[in-house]
Amino acid sequence: MMYDRIVLRYGDLTMKGRNRKIFEDKMLKSVKRAMKEFPEVTYWRTYGRLYVILNGIPHQPVIERLKDLFGIISVSPVISVPSELEAIKAAADEVMKSLDKTPATFKINARRAWKRFAHGSHEMNHLIGSHILPQYPDMKVDVHNPELELKIEIQEEATYLYWENIAAAGGFPYGSNGKAMLLLSGGIDSPVAGWMALRKGLEIEAVHFHSYPFTSQQATDKVITLARRLSYYSGVPIRLHLVPFTEIQTRITHSNQENLTITLMRRAMLRITEQLALKFKAGGIVTGESLGQVASQTLSSMNVIGRATVLPMIKPVIMMDKQEIITIARQIGTFETSILPFEDCCTLFLPKSPSTNPNLRIVERVEQQLPDLNDLIKQAVEGTESVLLNMTEGHHEHGQVDKSEEDWF
Ligand code: ATP
Ligand code: MG
Repeated sequence: MMYDRIVLRYGDLTMKGRNRKIFEDKMLKSVKRAMKEFPEVTYWRTYGRLYVILNGIPHQPVIERLKDLFGIISVSPVISVPSELEAIKAAADEVMKSLDKTPATFKINARRAWKRFAHGSHEMNHLIGSHILPQYPDMKVDVHNPELELKIEIQEEATYLYWENIAAAGGFPYGSNGKAMLLLSGGIDSPVAGWMALRKGLEIEAVHFHSYPFTSQQATDKVITLARRLSYYSGVPIRLHLVPFTEIQTRITHSNQENLTITLMRRAMLRITEQLALKFKAGGIVTGESLGQVASQTLSSMNVIGRATVLPMIKPVIMMDKQEIITIARQIGTFETSILPFEDCCTLFLPKSPSTNPNLRIVERVEQQLPDLNDLIKQAVEGTESVLLNMTEGHHEHGQVDKSEEDWF
C-alpha cells in the first residue's frame, strides 16, 4: 500500500468567490503542466484542495516537483483507505512501520467529516491511539507538541491518513498577476528577483543586454542557463530577448561624461525594455536592484534612471542584504551559474567613479547632446533576438541561439 496520492494546500485564505475560482483554475493548470513528466498521475479537486493521485508511481519525485511550484503552500503524501475502522487501523500500522525511527511522542488527530461514520472524532483518537500505543512501548502520547501527529480525515468516499507537512514555495500560480519584463543580467540578484516575481504570479519575459564582442558568447550562455532555470519554476518556456547593446555603450562611453556613463546606460536599457514591453504586452519592469549596493542603486540614482520609463518598476530584492539574496540564489539553483566569471556589459564599461547622485537636468541635457541615441535605441530594439527557452537544464549547444521562436531549446 503506502502513499497513493498527494494533497496540495494552496491559496491565500482571504481570497473568496470569483477570485478563488480563478486561482484554483490557474493552480490546476499549473500543476498539470508541471506534471507532464509524470503522465501516470490524475487529479481530483474537492473542498478547495487538490489531490494528485499517483496511480502506482513513487511519491517522492512528484513531491519534489510540486514543492517548487508557485501557489502551493504545503503538500502531504496521503494514504487513502475505505472508511472502515479495520482498514483505518491497518493504514495507521503502515504509517508507523514506514517511519525511520519510532517517535518519542505522538498524537492521533482524527476528524469525522462524514457524519454517518460510526465513530466520532474523539472516539477515533482513542480507538486508533489504543491500537498503536501498545505496539510501541517507548512512545508516549503528547497532545500539545507531539513529534508525530497522525491526521485521519474521514470522508464518505474514503479516509485519508497523513502526517508529513512539507512546505512548498507559496505565492500565486503562474500568470495570475499579469506580465512584466525581467532585466536579467548574469549576476546573482536578477535571477532571484525573477524567481520572486514568478512567485507573485507574474508572467515574465527576460531581457538581456550584451555587448558582443566585448562580452563573450559564454556570458550569453550563462544568461540562457539562468532563464531556463526560471522556466523550471514557472513550468512554461520563457522568452529571452537578447539586445545588442554594443553601439549604445560605445556611443555613451565616447560622450565624455565618465561619471554619468552608468546612469545613461541604464536609462537606455529602460527605454529599450519599455519598447519591448509594449510589443510583448507587458505592464512592468522587474530588476535585481538592491538599495545601496552599487552607485546606480542609490535613491537618487534610481530616481534619475527610473524616469526614463513610465512603466512601474518592480524591485523584489531592493531591501534585502546580499547574504539573504545569496541564500535564495543557492536554494533556487542559480547561484553556481551566477558566479561563473564571464564579464557582463556593465562591468566592462564601468567608469572609475560613477556618480551616486546624478542630476536629472544634467543627464537630460547630455542625452540631448547625443542626437543619434534615439536611433541607436530603435536599432537595438529592431536587432533584438527573441528566443523561447524551456526548462531543460543547462546543456545547450554553445553558440546555438536560434532565432525562431517556435524552437524550444
Ligand atoms: P545582478 O546581480 O542582478 O547583476 P548587480 O548587483 O550586479 O545585479 P547591477 O549590475 O547594477 O547590479 O544591475 C542592476 C540591475 O540591472 C540588475 O539586477 C539587472 O536587473 C539589470 N541589469 C544589469 N545589467 C544588465 C544586463 N546586461 N542585461 C539586463 N539587465 C541588466
Ligand atoms: Mg550585475
